[in-house]
Amino acid sequence: MINDIMNFLNIEDKDIIITKILTDGNIKEVHLEKSLKAEYCPACSSRMYSKGKYFRKINHPILQDGYQLILIVTQRKWRCTNPQCNLYFNDQFNFISKYKQSSNITPYMILNEMKKYTCYYC
Ligand SMILES: [Zn+2]
Repeated sequence: MINDIMNFLNIEDKDIIITKILTDGNIKEVHLEKSLKAEYCPACSSRMYSKGKYFRKINHPILQDGYQLILIVTQRKWRCTNPQCNLYFNDQFNFISKYKQSSNITPYMILNEMKKYTCYYC
């Protein structure tokens, strides 16, 4: 079922996991993050270490049948362990930029799909 959600959100990033789905009244919150793996610096190839996380809330632009979809995306902050380098970056999610560019048809389809899952989470 998680894979179905990934599919209809059009998520192609391979290492994304859905940690939980909450239904609160007419709001469905889908929590996403990248699975934790070793990151290496693109500049000097040293190990990166995680400086913590921050949360990004993406409100779905379209309401349908009273349901609102909210994506809560956890992004990790990374810093290079090499003091000469100190490169810094955050997790990137390809689907988010794609999501923003999606046509009006896609969100409509997403919410139709979401209805199927209502009973599993109520
Ligand atoms: Zn580095």
